[in-house]
Amino acid sequence: MNTVRVRFAPSPTGYLHVGGARTALFNWLYARHHDGVFVLRIEDTDLARSTDEATQVILDALQFLGMDWDEGPGVEGDYGPYYQSKRLDLYGKYADKLMEMGRAYKCYCTPEELEKKREEQIKQGQATHYDRHCLHLTAEQEAQYQAEGRTPVIRFKSLDEGVTEVDDMIRGKVRFDNVAQVDDFVIMKSDGMPTYNFAVVVDDALMRITHVIRGEDHLSNTPKQIQIYQALGFPVPRFAHIPMILGPDKSLLSKRHGATSVMQFKEEGYLSHAMVNYLALLGWSYDDSQTLFSIPELIEKFSLERVSKNPAVFDIQKLEWMNGVYIRELSLEDLYSEILPYWQQAGFLPQDVNSELKDYGLRILKELQPRLKLLADAVDLARYFFTDDYEYNQEVVEKILTKPQTKEILKYISEAVANASVLDEENLKPLFKQGLEQFGVKMGDLIQPLRVALTGTNVSPGIYDVLALLGRERVLERIKRTLEMLEERS
Ligand code: GLU
Repeated sequence: MNTVRVRFAPSPTGYLHVGGARTALFNWLYARHHDGVFVLRIEDTDLARSTDEATQVILDALQFLGMDWDEGPGVEGDYGPYYQSKRLDLYGKYADKLMEMGRAYKCYCTPEELEKKREEQIKQGQATHYDRHCLHLTAEQEAQYQAEGRTPVIRFKSLDEGVTEVDDMIRGKVRFDNVAQVDDFVIMKSDGMPTYNFAVVVDDALMRITHVIRGEDHLSNTPKQIQIYQALGFPVPRFAHIPMILGPDKSLLSKRHGATSVMQFKEEGYLSHAMVNYLALLGWSYDDSQTLFSIPELIEKFSLERVSKNPAVFDIQKLEWMNGVYIRELSLEDLYSEILPYWQQAGFLPQDVNSELKDYGLRILKELQPRLKLLADAVDLARYFFTDDYEYNQEVVEKILTKPQTKEILKYISEAVANASVLDEENLKPLFKQGLEQFGVKMGDLIQPLRVALTGTNVSPGIYDVLALLGRERVLERIKRTLEMLEERS
């Protein structure tokens, strides 16, 4: 039985974006579903644009998403090295082989000359492709070009007739006209580096890749790649081109649509599980109803048959919703571990948290858990539990604290809090109720100003929980502070 071998082959020229992460995920799920091998290959032949930092960010993002690779950076396998920049001798070797076979040739045309030809072809209404000017150069002509200081590229001699058919696992049979759609493309640049279309074939072949799963934007490259496989006598892998991802305005998803980098999502407080679950649904579905999947379930249920031909639309609200669902599924302990770095960064908790502080954190999270969409929300939502230094929402102050009797009500509550034996519902509620009669108001008229005084705003966990968490001293201090603020305003 042939083992499934798939690969994710990012170019380390930027962050890992939603599109790349989704491609990686489909490969990873396919490998795991089939007990296959998931290879990570770094396509870093664009030396000017590739950086080690970008590679590291991609590795970090994959790790965050839990997509472990079986071969690749840090995991040596039988088919390495897994960085294209370390495989240059191989590309040279196969380019030479194609030249010996008469399936590749040196081309000395300069970019300016090529541009001129292009313009001419456009003027004549012809398809723009290389005119094979250098296909049959004599030794003298070559010597002449070299003497002029020209350095050649190597072009593939593509097929002169017929069609190349891509039998795509998602898109079905797609046919390309060899003359009109595949010209003599460059396989080695003048600096000795391979082009993408060439290196990808050499590597996929030598790494024994059985299935190439990648974005649909590469479908048009596929006939070129197939012609190289055939010329070199390599078996052609199966191809599966997955649909593009669009933004809400139906244009290709890009930075214009907001965050698209996986690590940025992580910083904003998206959970790995929510990201993976959501990414899986960008172009794939199990049936029409199920949206929430555990990771083992995704592995079990994923198939290319159920990948759509139609573009997927990235819906940040759905991702946010899903994140909230998974946040609520976390145990308090796990939620605490996720939130701790955010609270530490905000200065709410020290690097070494003692058990008393941790306990306080857990009690706060118990109240916040139902309200969180993003982990990072836990900073603003918890600020008043950790510091007296928070903003009063002026609109809310205006609406709630300027009502008649507010000051008297707050003074009354202050006394009740001072006198209650314990700050909990059982002890405070009866005292508050007495106040209602005294002032002729409803419970809300008493609780709302108190809430604003304690939290700076009008939404918070239940008031008795807030009181208990803050403790008597802080409650009295904050009421006092609010009364002074009201005094100053009048
Ligand atoms: N390095 C290419 C890219 O990032 C890989 C494309 C492929 O999967 O063949 O687009």
